[in-house]
Parts: sequence; structure tokens; C-alpha cells
Amino acid sequence: MLVVMKAQATTEQIQAVCEHIEQMGFRAHPLPGAQRTAIGITGNQGEVERGDLEDMPGVAEVIRVSKAYKLASRDVKQEDTVIGFAASEATIGGPNLAVIAGPCSIESREQAFAIAEQAAQAGARFFRGGAFKPRTSPYAFQGLGLEALEIMAEIRAALGLVIVTEAIDTESLAQVAEWADVVQIGARNMQNFSLLKQAGRQPKPVLIKRGLSATLDEFLMAAEYVMSEGNYRVILCERGIRTFADHTRNTLDLSIVPAIKRLSHLPILVDPSHGTGKRDSVLPMSRAAIACGADGILVEVHNQPEKALSDGPQSLYPEQFARMMNELEQIAPIVGRTLPRGVRREAAAR
Ligand code: PEP
Ligand code: MN
Repeated sequence: MLVVMKAQATTEQIQAVCEHIEQMGFRAHPLPGAQRTAIGITGNQGEVERGDLEDMPGVAEVIRVSKAYKLASRDVKQEDTVIGFAASEATIGGPNLAVIAGPCSIESREQAFAIAEQAAQAGARFFRGGAFKPRTSPYAFQGLGLEALEIMAEIRAALGLVIVTEAIDTESLAQVAEWADVVQIGARNMQNFSLLKQAGRQPKPVLIKRGLSATLDEFLMAAEYVMSEGNYRVILCERGIRTFADHTRNTLDLSIVPAIKRLSHLPILVDPSHGTGKRDSVLPMSRAAIACGADGILVEVHNQPEKALSDGPQSLYPEQFARMMNELEQIAPIVGRTLPRGVRREAAAR
């Protein structure tokens, strides 16, 4: 159920409706929009008795949300969600495109700084590096853990970049939530419901990558898990799915972008690195991602990809990344977007 408040409803009226919902034993999720605030109701098994709610001051209407995902749905919030960050002008969602770049894994302080500096130079505002790596083989490099989080915090302080990194379990989630700006939940964990709920109970935005065989509904339900716990700052990321096609590592399903845009107010990014597994395919698929309406790109960049401890073959050289930024900047206006580049000096100094 959804309570739609009148455009002129006061904060007190919104508060009173939320309290009433909580007294009924449900959870209230106020989601302010440009025109009006809508309050999602969760925790109900069946229909909520709407009588009293409809009569409360400031309430315009009470409507049933028929979809399984409610808080993630455009029924609840019509405007695109724009996620902002303290101490940065960077945003995810809305007219400005977001580009998140960095190595698959943080391998050393030198490696991370060298790549971050080149990414920032090319105009990236977000830096992503793996500290905890979900690897297919237990014998493969598993990440530097806390040391990598500390290196990325140094990069934020030195370059003003917003830090994105993955949590693979409840233990690493607590650390990532403390050190990073965005918590990434990887494809393999997209249906780890206890991890999603924990991500919903911490304050940092959560970037959810699509599971290897997840349908659109399952993808949005993963977002719903996070939002149902009160964290509404969720970012989706298409990263390729498993199909019979074997010319690429995964099949990048760009057709999910307009489908998600139609159904949800949440931002959706595209990861052409894991989506193709091939360096040469990354730029063409990035162009296509922006052309089809994605809110930005998550891309792997490495200064020495031939020596990378993970995902070298799909990592762009820094020069290729700079070219990608130039091209995306030109494509953006054709689809009504802009690609803001760089970090202001004051932000970097903080
Ligand atoms: C990654 O982003 O480095 C990663 C492991 O991605 P995914 O979860 O999409 O495989
Ligand atoms: Mn990777």
C-alpha cells in the first residue's frame, strides 16, 4: 500500500501518518518526490485497512501497489532517484552520468594510487577497487582486505574521489560500510538475502550487481530487500548474464536498462568489463550503454593489465579510459545527459 500525501502536506502531517502506520504494526517508508511525498507501507501480509489513513490531514489518496517490489517501483516515486555524497559534487542518477573506474583488485598502494591518479585525470569522480574478492577459485588472489580499504581512504583524501568497494559477507560489510562511500554487493551475492538486509541497515548507498541468472523481477527484489530495511539509496548495475554465447565472458543485457527505467526510479549503471570480459569490447559497449539510457558506467582500469592479479584481460589501459570519457561526454547530450568531469580542488583538499 502507498499513502500519497497532498503537495502542500506539512512535515507534521507526514510524521503523523508515519506514526499511525507504525501503530498499526507496519513499517512506514516516506519517500519525498519533487511534487509530493509518498509513504510506502511494508510489513503487511494482506491488504491494509485504509479507512483511517484516508481521513488523515494531508492525505491525498491511499493506493494499492500491485507489484512485488514496492519501494523500488515508480508507483511509489515517479522522479528518478539521485544519490549524492557528503564532501563531493558527484551524484549517481538524474541528468549527470556517473563513471566509476578502477582496478578489479587493490594490489598495492603504488598500483592503486597510479590508477586512481590517471582515472581522476581523465575526469572520473568515483574510484572502485576490490578489497574483498569473490573468486571462483579459492587459490586465486582474495584481496588485501582492510589494507585495501585504508589505501582507498587515502585516495579519497588525496584526490577527492568517491570510493566504491565490494562486501562479500556480513563481516566485510561492516568494514566496507565504515571505510567506503558505496557498498557494492556482487553478482554472486545478489540473492544473499541476509547480506542485503544488513546492507539496508547501514547508512551508505548500496550498489547491487545483477546476478548471473537473475530476472528483472529478481534484480528489483534484491533492491527491495535493501530498501525494506530503510536504506533507499540503492544503485543497480547490469554486468552481464550467463547465456549460451561464448564469444564474451558474459552476455551484457543492455535491454534491461530501458526496462528498469520504466519500472523503477533507481539509477542503473552498466559494467561492460565483466559484461564482456574483453578489453576491446568495453568501449563499444560503454557507448551503447549510455545511448540506451544507463545512468553511468562501472569500468575496470589497470595501469599494467598484463600483470593484474585479477581481470587483466578486461581492464582498460588508462589512455583507453581517457578516450572512453571523451567519447561518452560527446554521446551524453544526444540522450539528454551530461558527463561532468573531475573533482573540484576544494573537494579534493577535504
Ligand atoms: C567486480 O565488480 O569486480 C566483480 C567481482 O563483479 P561481479 O560481482 O559482477 O562478478
Ligand atoms: Mn573484476
